[in-house]
Amino acid sequence: MSIELSRKHQSLSPSMTLSIAAKAGEMKAQGIDIIGFGVGEPDFNTPQHIIDKAVETMNKGLTGYTPAAGIPELKKAICNKLKQDNDLDYEPNQIIVSNGAKHSIYNALQAICNPGDEVIIGTPYWVSYPELVVMADAVPVYVEGREENEFKMSVEDIRMKITPKTKALLLNSPSNPTGSVYTKAELKAIGDLMVEHEILIISDEIYEKLIYGDEGHTSIASFNEKLKDLTIVVNGLSKAYAMTGWRIGYTASNSKIAKIMANIQSHATSNANTIAQYASVEGLEGDQTPLHEMKKEFDSRRKFMVKRINEIQGVSCIEPNGAFYVMMNIKELKGKKLGGKVVNDSIEISEAILEHARVALVPGIAFGADDYARISYANSMENIETGLNRIQEFLEKDV
Ligand SMILES: *Cc1c(COP(=O)(O)O)cnc(C)c1O
Repeated sequence: MSIELSRKHQSLSPSMTLSIAAKAGEMKAQGIDIIGFGVGEPDFNTPQHIIDKAVETMNKGLTGYTPAAGIPELKKAICNKLKQDNDLDYEPNQIIVSNGAKHSIYNALQAICNPGDEVIIGTPYWVSYPELVVMADAVPVYVEGREENEFKMSVEDIRMKITPKTKALLLNSPSNPTGSVYTKAELKAIGDLMVEHEILIISDEIYEKLIYGDEGHTSIASFNEKLKDLTIVVNGLSKAYAMTGWRIGYTASNSKIAKIMANIQSHATSNANTIAQYASVEGLEGDQTPLHEMKKEFDSRRKFMVKRINEIQGVSCIEPNGAFYVMMNIKELKGKKLGGKVVNDSIEISEAILEHARVALVPGIAFGADDYARISYANSMENIETGLNRIQEFLEKDV
């Protein structure tokens, strides 16, 4: 066929995490026991009361379309949540319920970007950010988050990347892949800079409920009215309520942006899954105990993993304060011989660890940070112990 297909979309890169995941899958299929540290979702089931609500919803016959931007009950529950947890006042018409937070970010970028606009992204970034920006005809501009600064962007570094074309900043705290949490003071300083230059903020707060330090979560929208006006708050139920497969995310923004996003969504996908929307009301308003139990379990795994990684020769990590990932520094392994082969980048190192230690990691290059590999602790304590023992045996034999 000689018909030219979409230039913009053909240039999208396939997920770089995919090749390693595919290889791990193949090895598993051959009966090889692989410990998977690549996982990007909680290893817990959705709490039973949320599942019961979904069944009840279907039995009641609530199985048709809903308003494209979401059912009033859920929008109201989201407004209450934003008020209670984040000290933010929104009206239901400022809330757009979407098919997951990823879809929310897509809608937001489509609603605000014009061709050639620049969107600032911190590295290491969540895999989808750059491509979502490109899909909106905009250009990703990267600010390096250094390990010395807990992988967070500094205000000075952001300032240096601002141009007349800067349309938005994509902020993710707590972060996937680094687990870093911006402090209130850091957020305020970044927020002030955005107000000074009138730059929009897409604030991805999906890991809000998974923060382990004493400093709780602050939404950058909450400092003042100006910042609230500039910010599109993105959140969802996937991570906090172990509901990744239900596909419910949402945005809270000024009405002008909300209206554009609602129009985009009404033509592209219509409403998010009706049953999942009703179940999400129960998630937000019902018993929050399962969430606290999950967080407690993640916290002990986190501490164990950080301690163990730092006992292994050739790798290290800092202690992350949020989410369920650790960025393992693998820089020292570059140029070394692993499993009889010289390894030069995060993909080759991850491949060697997969092949010889039978542990799957995500190479840091997928997040724009090739000196690292991401390890997820969304796995049982037993598997975490075994996996890290295997990595240690392999590396200390070879290093
Ligand atoms: C998981 C994740 C999301 C979105 O998840 P959905 O399942 O689409 O709600 C968004 N941002 C980050 C950083 C994530 O890790």
